[in-house]
Amino acid sequence: MTTFDTLDDLQHQLSQCRLCLEAGYRIESQPIFSGSASARLMLIGQAPGASEGDLGYPFGGNAGQRLFRWLSRAGWDEKTFRETCYITAVTKCFPGNNSNGSGDRVPSAAERKLCRPWLDGELTFVQPEVIVLVGRLAIQLYYPTKTKLSDVIGDTTVNENGQVLIPLPHPSGASRWFHEPANVGRLERAIYALKRIKAELNL
Ligand code: SF4
Repeated sequence: MTTFDTLDDLQHQLSQCRLCLEAGYRIESQPIFSGSASARLMLIGQAPGASEGDLGYPFGGNAGQRLFRWLSRAGWDEKTFRETCYITAVTKCFPGNNSNGSGDRVPSAAERKLCRPWLDGELTFVQPEVIVLVGRLAIQLYYPTKTKLSDVIGDTTVNENGQVLIPLPHPSGASRWFHEPANVGRLERAIYALKRIKAELNL
């Protein structure tokens, strides 16, 4: 990976990244991300799915529809959110399906490490005031690895850079977490936290 002077530079180089393939890992799409340096909120997902790989933009499939239903309850319509917020992921290429057919493959720690400098660069250039962490892998960027979703969903915190962190569960239909009765209130609190921060910061 070479260095970059601007977010445009970074995005240009990121869009051509093939580091995982070169290291022998499986990926099945181009890098997927969207947004500009003017974004005040960055949403970080885990990794794109097959739909995103086909469409070429983040959260375009069924999981995205659920995510945008949550965001709509916090006050964003999908078009405005996509136009004003930065959307990226821990790893930016679709990692393919699990060999046993049980959904998308989870990118390994080694793949996450390979992709991390891109995310660090995005964070440096965008400097978001709010970071929404969608799913366990994204939450682990800022919370200890063994943190349970039920310990953090519904709470907000401010990191050492003064950025507000709002964790969300992964909106995939395969996720059972947000269907469990004990977690419904946690998700409601997370949506309310988004709504409150949107109003407070006039996002
Ligand atoms: S997942 Fe990240 S590091 Fe791997 S090829 Fe895609 S952009 Fe590059």
